[in-house]
Amino acid sequence: MQDMPTLSPDKYRLLKDRFGFNAFRPLQEEAVDAIMEGRDLLMILPTGGGKSLSYQLPALLMEGTTVVVSPLLALMHDQVQSLKAQGMRAEMLSSMQTGEQSGDILRRLYAGEVDFLYLSPERLNTDGMRQVLSDIRLNYFVIDEAHCISEWGHEFRADYRALSQLRDLFPGVNIAAFTATATPHVRDDILRLLRLDNPVVLQGGLFRDNLQITVRHRIKDGYDQLRNFLDDHKDESGIVYAFSRKSVEAVANFLRQRGYAAEAYHAGMPTEERNRVFHAFVHDEVKIIVATIAFGMGIDKSNIRYVFHMSLPKTVENYYQEIGRAGRDGDHADVVMLFGAQDVIQQKRFVEMNEDETYKAHLMQKLNAVHRYAASETCRHQQLAAYFGDSIAPCGSHCDNCLEPDYEKRDITTEAQMLLSAVYRTGQRFGKSYLVDVLRGSREQKILANGHDALSVYGIGESLSKKQWFVVLDRMLEIGALDVNEHHGLVLTEAGLKVLKGAEPVLIRADRLNVRAKTVKKAAPEIFDYDTELFETLRALRFEIAQEKGVPPYVVFGDKTLKEMAAVRPQTKERMLEVNGVGEVKFERYGEAFLALLRE
Ligand code: ADP
Ligand code: ZN
Repeated sequence: MQDMPTLSPDKYRLLKDRFGFNAFRPLQEEAVDAIMEGRDLLMILPTGGGKSLSYQLPALLMEGTTVVVSPLLALMHDQVQSLKAQGMRAEMLSSMQTGEQSGDILRRLYAGEVDFLYLSPERLNTDGMRQVLSDIRLNYFVIDEAHCISEWGHEFRADYRALSQLRDLFPGVNIAAFTATATPHVRDDILRLLRLDNPVVLQGGLFRDNLQITVRHRIKDGYDQLRNFLDDHKDESGIVYAFSRKSVEAVANFLRQRGYAAEAYHAGMPTEERNRVFHAFVHDEVKIIVATIAFGMGIDKSNIRYVFHMSLPKTVENYYQEIGRAGRDGDHADVVMLFGAQDVIQQKRFVEMNEDETYKAHLMQKLNAVHRYAASETCRHQQLAAYFGDSIAPCGSHCDNCLEPDYEKRDITTEAQMLLSAVYRTGQRFGKSYLVDVLRGSREQKILANGHDALSVYGIGESLSKKQWFVVLDRMLEIGALDVNEHHGLVLTEAGLKVLKGAEPVLIRADRLNVRAKTVKKAAPEIFDYDTELFETLRALRFEIAQEKGVPPYVVFGDKTLKEMAAVRPQTKERMLEVNGVGEVKFERYGEAFLALLRE
């Protein structure tokens, strides 16, 4: 059955020879065993935890074809490529192929020559496909991104619902479901809707200690903060998430003008263009993708070194999934979120547009939760774990709140009163730029025309820069001293009146007023003390080989594997095989080229 009959069908041997790994990661072996024992399985593991191997390895030890259902064509395509690169017999059937191509795949399916068949749910739901599947020998179904079946998740897909019929249509075939979304609601939906029978449920810890989390208040549009951050991440791949298509375009332009290889990605772009950008990113030809949340579901690229949010994500679920795309190889990655009170106001407007009151309340609750997280002062990892029902100790050094627990506070009551007074005296109808201009005594035509240069507040705020005033203003919105009316004008609230009368002091984290944003310090030490120059050379070789073979670079070897090579400089095949990530199959394909370079 296997096309490498010399191997003993032993899971540890396969792990090394086919996948190149020296050991299983937590829960992988349990998943493999469950599948081998013919049990249904639900595996909940954070992104990067190693779900794919958990269903790919047992397939190689069993007779028949494994059907993998996955929601996105681009994603499927990558996985099939990557399996093929490891010498496995994987195919996908989709609308992208010609009749001739799919005819050939069908022929090989019937001949028992396909170990992995990737299908979209739409395809699986057709009568023709179901007929094919009942004709051939199946070993089990894999439902990837299984949370798409639940309306409680954040990526509900109507066509996942029909997967409920699998149990009746293929009664003897086991089902293994995989997801990274761990809320109890979603888990229960998956178990119920897929009708899993006495399943093995494996849920991994949520703590990913290779992610360094930072959350900062956004200063103005956040562009300077983004640029400062990127200065420290020049040659690395990363994703920048922005809220709207318009802001995606604007950020991408900003970066390109400053010489960064950045591309925009959002649902408003033509499919072809989107595919091109996706491909270029996966193949390391484009380093930075600026995207709306339309980008990245299940993306396989393992060497994404940072995820940068320009504004507050919609929910904690979204946030966790989005930052989960960084550092899937287990190596250090930075995740940074910028947010401001403005984000909440903006998103509330969208929530308000819903008619259904229950749903609206549900969305509001999610929005408040993610805002609380952003504005919080305790361990970020601990909060995320708690949100998904897990409890862990504070991380100590993998988040900003653990690194800077005793920040200094500054009393800004006087500045707050100046600002509130300016709002009041100009008639509670102007936006923030105008108000700050009044406070700083600008000679702006509009101010003079309105006669606002005659107000007592005119020019009294020159001690703070414009940027600092925006921070003060953000703080006013956060504590609810100001609100925004439907014409974007700032208005006073009850709480604001109290501040104005001196009945309520206003405090702020002192560092927020140091508006040149600190760049994030790297807390996690590199695992290997490797030669960075050699690493770059190895990377260049990897890029060349990947281009030549038409596969993404990480499919050749992961960053971590290259770093280990750069550290131990193996000179022989035997030493090379000891490097984590190098197996027999990969050595056959790429090993010599790397050895030759290392021997130089
Ligand atoms: P998930 O699907 O859970 O998000 P993947 O299956 O894509 O995660 O695995 C993430 C990364 O971890 C990949 O780069 C993969 O090659 C690597 N990986 C998986 N299993 C192991 C293992 N046992 N040892 C080392 N690396 C592994
Ligand atoms: Zn922490």
